[in-house]
Amino acid sequence: MAAVEQQISSIVIVGGGTAGWMTAAALCQHFLDTPVQITLVESSQLGTIGVGEATIPTLRRFYNKLGFSDIDVIRATNATCKLGIEFQDWHSPGSSFIHPFGLFGLPVKDTPFHHYWLKAQQTGNASDLADYSLGVNLAKQDKFCFPSPKPESALQIFDWALHFDAALFADLMRTHAIKNNITAIDGKIAEVVLDSQNGDIKTLQLEDGRQINGDLFIDCSGFAGLLIEKALHCGFEDWSQWLLCDKAFAVQTESVGAPIPRTIAKAHQAGWQWKIPLQHRSGNGHVYSSQYISDDDALQTLIENLDGKALHSPRQFSFKPGRRKNAWHKNCIAVGLAAGFLEPLESTSIALVETAIDKIIQSFPKAAFSQTEVDKFNQVTATEYERVRDFIILHYKANQRDDSPMWRYCREMSVPDSLNEKMQAFKSVGDLSRSPWEIFGPDSWLAIYSGFNYLPDTYAAEVDNMPTEYLNTNLAKMRSAIKNMVTPVPSHLEFLSRFCAYK
Ligand code: FAD
Repeated sequence: MAAVEQQISSIVIVGGGTAGWMTAAALCQHFLDTPVQITLVESSQLGTIGVGEATIPTLRRFYNKLGFSDIDVIRATNATCKLGIEFQDWHSPGSSFIHPFGLFGLPVKDTPFHHYWLKAQQTGNASDLADYSLGVNLAKQDKFCFPSPKPESALQIFDWALHFDAALFADLMRTHAIKNNITAIDGKIAEVVLDSQNGDIKTLQLEDGRQINGDLFIDCSGFAGLLIEKALHCGFEDWSQWLLCDKAFAVQTESVGAPIPRTIAKAHQAGWQWKIPLQHRSGNGHVYSSQYISDDDALQTLIENLDGKALHSPRQFSFKPGRRKNAWHKNCIAVGLAAGFLEPLESTSIALVETAIDKIIQSFPKAAFSQTEVDKFNQVTATEYERVRDFIILHYKANQRDDSPMWRYCREMSVPDSLNEKMQAFKSVGDLSRSPWEIFGPDSWLAIYSGFNYLPDTYAAEVDNMPTEYLNTNLAKMRSAIKNMVTPVPSHLEFLSRFCAYK
């Protein structure tokens, strides 16, 4: 029997934060030249969350599809380039490693590089995995250039993302959506009226008396979850037994020195601190577990660890890690913080906005949807969130810090079965296979495993077909090829000044 289809002639997006305006920009482009009307309601009185400045490379693919170049976006958002994240003190106090957006080493036929590196390690070669990543070596030396569009060797492959001013990025998306005929309304929603027959959302009642009707509603109202939760009571899957951080203080500071092409994530006793360099300032924040530190002490830790002068008083945030049970319920799809939030680590929240938008667009080859699309959307969204959740939990589970109860708890805690299986598969045979719908690929998992020194005791048997001396000679060649590639690359500062009008 054919699925019953619901026709769409009007879409209402609720919320004008990063999620709302990204969704608006993409949907206006997708439905351009169709009779579908798109409206966005936001409240300048309530404002937006005002954080969320570090991204992953998928963001570049997102704005490229809208017709923006990297240089356009860097200039418009005072952005800097991000080659990865430097994790300071996570494995243990004093330790440091970089999770790059790129590959490590060269594979041999079907055998991934890390098996060769593992054998070299176990037979006395002291080289670090990071020595085989162009991305890490550029990041460490504060250098940046665009990756080669036609790499001659996998050693040349790396990817990058942006640190940007979130408000300026939302403005860019807004301009694009307005150019493509969106109707933007500034007003506070006082009530969400449901259809008494089928329970769908029918009308949004604004405080000033205006009413907005629609066929499909996209809830980008942030933590409020105004439609998906407050009106439709969709339910929440709480992950705070694994993700202990539930609060943050954030503050912008004056820049000190040239902006670096990496985010800094520094572990503290009951959480961690980010430093995100922009062209005109830095974003900083301390994310912490309220079970293990008081608000006053968390704020003090942030202040003591700032480099530059604070530009305003720190702002506090509270959140519950987890996701909505169903991101699409009735005629409402939740995107962004309204759909769920894990924590700021690894900058996954805006990436999950992008994947939600991609799925919405795929669900609407024509202006109609059926329960089949709804079920598929929910199943894929749940899997994506769970895969990201597992990746983030790994950062806590694998720690070797012995200086505070939170880190000891994280090391001892039992983790979701899906993560346990992944960790076991890596530990026993070095398996890094990618699960379906996983945002972070094998080299990202490898970067974290190796950064925490969570390594297999063995390696793939075929590696022994290569004589150890030959292996070491090849590894030395890779290391020196990477050094030679890094040498002529300009500094990140020079790159920004030359191409992005940075002064
Ligand atoms: P919001 O920005 O909160 O927007 C909600 C919108 O809904 C606003 O326009 C508001 O006015 C509107 N609204 C709400 N109620 C009403 C109403 N009644 N009537 C009318 N309008 C209404 N993500 C990353 O990818 N990288 C990071 O580095 C990162 N760091 C973070 C750090 C912290 C401490 C936190 C808490 C989050 C971080 N995030 C990060 C997440 C990121 O901030 C969000 O994913 C992103 O900003 C999108 O938010 P949003 O648009 O869903 O919600």
